[in-house]
Amino acid sequence: MTNEHDEVVCGHEVVEKRKGVGRRCAYRNVPQLPIPADLALPTCNACGAWLLTRESAAALDAAMEPVYGAELGRRAREALATLGQEGLRQKDLEPILGLSVGYLSKLKNSKADPSAPLVSVLLLLARDVQRVDELAALWSGNCESPTASGPSSKLVKSPEGLAQRFPTLADVGQLSLAERQASQIRKRGRLMEFRN
Ligand SMILES: [Zn+2]
Repeated sequence: MTNEHDEVVCGHEVVEKRKGVGRRCAYRNVPQLPIPADLALPTCNACGAWLLTRESAAALDAAMEPVYGAELGRRAREALATLGQEGLRQKDLEPILGLSVGYLSKLKNSKADPSAPLVSVLLLLARDVQRVDELAALWSGNCESPTASGPSSKLVKSPEGLAQRFPTLADVGQLSLAERQASQIRKRGRLMEFRN
């Protein structure tokens, strides 16, 4: 039994401008962004492929720019929420990231459009909040290259001024150090088991 659809070799003969929901495309650093449903794209009736002309590609680009901006804002607010849950205050983060006072508040309230690099940093920090301390130490010129004990150990030895300015960060750092040490001991334990 043959399926007649399998035998169709698409020559894209019937191409229509079609709108539609559920369409997605890669845009800049986001692999799957929803395309506005009301954007008409030249589409093959037989196979559904988009056959973009220079003109329709430009229209797609223009339509995706605000979608991308909204996605950046959404991802930034998500990361800020996570950082907030971890006890990091916006006014502590702003100086470390070189942002003006109140910028993150604007961002949180959708009154600022973050750049892709800023959102990238926020995403990374939200995944591993200990890196906020590391970043502060890097900017202070007080961070050695990561060692076996980990970059966060530096925080404990960091100048008192830093701990005073960022008391919540110091707390996070101490916790992480304890966790790290516990992990090191567990690893060593495993190594010894192998040697025996
Ligand atoms: Zn086709």
